[in-house]
Amino acid sequence: AAKFDGKGRFRFFDYEMDTRARRRLFLEHELRGALQRGEFELAYQPIFALDTGRVSGCEALLRWHHPRLGMVDTQECIAVAEESGQIEAIGEWVLDAAIREAAHWPDTVRLSVNLSLAQFINPALCETILGLLDTHGLSPRRLELELTESIFLRDTTHAEGHLRALRAAGIRIALDDFGTGYSSLAYLRTLPLDRIKIDRAFVTAIAAHPETAAVVRAIIAIAQALHMDTCAEGVEDTAQLALLRAEGCGAVQGFALAEPMTPTTLAAFLAGKVAVPTAIAAGRNSAA
Ligand code: C2E
Ligand code: MG
Ligand code: MG
Ligand code: MG
Repeated sequence: AAKFDGKGRFRFFDYEMDTRARRRLFLEHELRGALQRGEFELAYQPIFALDTGRVSGCEALLRWHHPRLGMVDTQECIAVAEESGQIEAIGEWVLDAAIREAAHWPDTVRLSVNLSLAQFINPALCETILGLLDTHGLSPRRLELELTESIFLRDTTHAEGHLRALRAAGIRIALDDFGTGYSSLAYLRTLPLDRIKIDRAFVTAIAAHPETAAVVRAIIAIAQALHMDTCAEGVEDTAQLALLRAEGCGAVQGFALAEPMTPTTLAAFLAGKVAVPTAIAAGRNSAA
């Protein structure tokens, strides 16, 4: 491919673009069959209620162990799966594996699962999920689906119907990565949501910038006014944790509290056989 480099110079090949395109094609090819070869696993990251310091839920996160590439970046894997039409099959595997696992957890611990647009718009979604919940014996009330704002950009009317069906079945809905996309207060007001997940970008900046703390405060106030819970993602240190607590954030998730872990480690953690993460312990002491 021939290409101008923007300075009027002509290049025969854009190596970087070529490498990226080749990697995409390669990953797309490797992704086919990854499910059958058993290359996927789920990691679970605990979510802590800020008032009690207890684990209120765990988010299932896809992990792809490629035999030669090793662990493939999850965001890249999801993007390739979405672009190549493989996300629905992979997403169904995720739901099945996560619901099966969560059925063994204490019933105070909810399961959060991320959904892609293609899954969300599938008319059979609600039925599929209810079938899985029934098969594995998990109450719909213990499932929360995480959707990003991009899902509501397409067509809000359709999305609203789907959300209402899921919520009528008792399933909770969280808006993931809030504040990074094309956040609109209009849809926040009309969509039936249970929780807003405040994007890591705000959490990262909260301690260094008073303006960011003000924005987080405003997001929490809006959520409260709309009777929605809040969860801050990507909490990496105790300063961030203290500020989120001061602002009245409902729940927190991040490396400072607990990293995503294997189902076995998580089970030991939930059973109290593995030490409570230090950051939340420190946070609880300071609040007491
Ligand atoms: P997300 O849903 O916003 O998940 C949070 C991401 O932040 C996870 O990345 C998690 O490992 C990471 N994280 C958690 N705490 C911290 C922290 O303190 N600091 C930093 N720097 N990162 C933290 P991960 O596992 O790589 O997943 C990336 C994204 O891929 C997810 O973002 C989600 O959008 C998507 N994803 C993951 N699993 C699935 C899935 O099963 N289905 C779909 N459709 N998407 C998924
Ligand atoms: Mg998520
Ligand atoms: Mg998120
Ligand atoms: Mg995020």
